[in-house]
Amino acid sequence: MTQSMSDRLLRLIGERTDELVELTRDLIRIPTVNPPGDAYTDCAELIGERLRKRGFQVEYVRAEGVRGDSDTYPRTNVIARIEGRGPGKCVHFNGHTDVVPAGKNWTVDPFGGEVRDGKVYGRGACDMKGGIAASIIAVEAILASGIPFDGALEISGTVDEESGGYGGVGYMARKGYFSKPRVDHVIIPEPLNVDRVCIGHRGVWWAEIETKGRVAHGSMPFLGNCAVRHMGAVLHRIEEELIPRLAAKRTSMPVVPEGARQSTININSLHGGQREDRDGWPSPMVPDSCRMVIDRRYLIEEDPEEVKGEIVAILEDLRRTRPGFDYEMREVLAFLPTMTDADAPVVRAVEAAIEAVLGRKAQQVVSPGTYDQKHIVRIGNLRDCIAYGPGILDLAHQPDEYVGIADMVHSAQVMAMAALDLLGATEG
Ligand SMILES: [Zn+2]
Repeated sequence: MTQSMSDRLLRLIGERTDELVELTRDLIRIPTVNPPGDAYTDCAELIGERLRKRGFQVEYVRAEGVRGDSDTYPRTNVIARIEGRGPGKCVHFNGHTDVVPAGKNWTVDPFGGEVRDGKVYGRGACDMKGGIAASIIAVEAILASGIPFDGALEISGTVDEESGGYGGVGYMARKGYFSKPRVDHVIIPEPLNVDRVCIGHRGVWWAEIETKGRVAHGSMPFLGNCAVRHMGAVLHRIEEELIPRLAAKRTSMPVVPEGARQSTININSLHGGQREDRDGWPSPMVPDSCRMVIDRRYLIEEDPEEVKGEIVAILEDLRRTRPGFDYEMREVLAFLPTMTDADAPVVRAVEAAIEAVLGRKAQQVVSPGTYDQKHIVRIGNLRDCIAYGPGILDLAHQPDEYVGIADMVHSAQVMAMAALDLLGATEG
C-alpha cells in the first residue's frame, strides 16, 4: 500500500470518530444480555441493515435447535459480505454481540452508552461492542476511500460467545461460514489493547466431581458416611499436591497477564448437604452428596488426557485409601489450547499496521481465557485467525466497563490498513 493510500485511509477514519462513537452507543443500548440471550435479533438487524444500505449482501443465520435457542430468545447471527474488484482473498471481522449481565456497583447506566472524558461507558463497551463498531467503521472507510481491492470483506456479529459460542461462531463454522474458500483471514476485535496481537488462548477443561455418602441422623454421624468430608479430602489433595504442580508448569505461550503463564485450576463452585428449610434452619442430616465444579486452564505443552488424568489419579487414589470414599465425575466442557503461527499472514499484517499507525512495535500475546478463535480453528479448519481490538481486557465483565474513543479510532485504522494489506490493494 502506498503512503498516499494509507494517509487517505487514516484521515477518513479520523473524520468518522463521531460516527464510531454513535455506533458504539447504539450497540450498547441494545441489551444483548447472555444469559438468557436478550435482543439478539435487534442487534443483528442494527448491524445488518446498516451494512445492507452500504451495498453489502446480508444474511441472518439463526442457530435453530442449539441450547438456549427459542422463539423468545432466538440465536440470531448476522453476516455481511462485499466483493471487491475481482476474485481474491477474503478478510473477515467477527465480533460477538452478546454481553454478560450488568451486575452491581455501576455508577452509570450500563445500557445508556454514556460518553465522558473520551470514553464510552456501558456493558459490552470494551467486550466487545467498541471493537465491532471499529471494524464496521474500518470497512466502511475502505469502501469510501475508493481504494480498489481484490477479494472480499466480511463482517459478522455472532451470539453466545460468553457461553461457549455454540449458537454463534460454533454454529456458523459448522455451516461452512468460517472455512476456505469462503474466508482466508479472520480478525476478532476482542479487547486486547490497541498495540497487541493475540494469537491464541489456553485450553479449558471443566468437570463436575460428586462425592458420595450415606445419610444418617446428624447426632450420630458415625452411622452415616459424610460426602462433604470426602470432598474436603479431595480439596486437600488439590491444595497440597495439584496446585503446586500446576504452578511449576511454565509455557512458551506469551500469555498475559504473567500470572497465567502457568497451568491453573479454579474451584468454581461447591454444593453439599441438604437444603435449609424456609426459615434457614438446617435439618440434622449427614450429607450423602457433595458436588464441586472445577475449571482447569492449561497450556499448549500439556496433553488434555494428562490434564484429566491428574484429577482422576487423585480421585482413584482416595477411592483406594480412604474408607467409604466413592465418586462420579462428569465433563462439563472442553476446549483445546489454540495458537496461530507467530508469522502467519494475518499476524504480520496487523503487526505492520500497528507500527504504521501507533509508531511502536506490536506485542504478541495469548489470552488466559478462551474466545471464539477455537471454533474457527477447530471446526472451520482456518488457522489464519487472531484477536485484535480496542479496550483493556481487565475491564471486561466489570462494573463501569468502558472503551477509550482514541483507542477505537486507532484500532479501526489498524484494522483497515491490515485488511487492505492482506487483500493486496494497490493504487488504482
Ligand atoms: Zn469478548
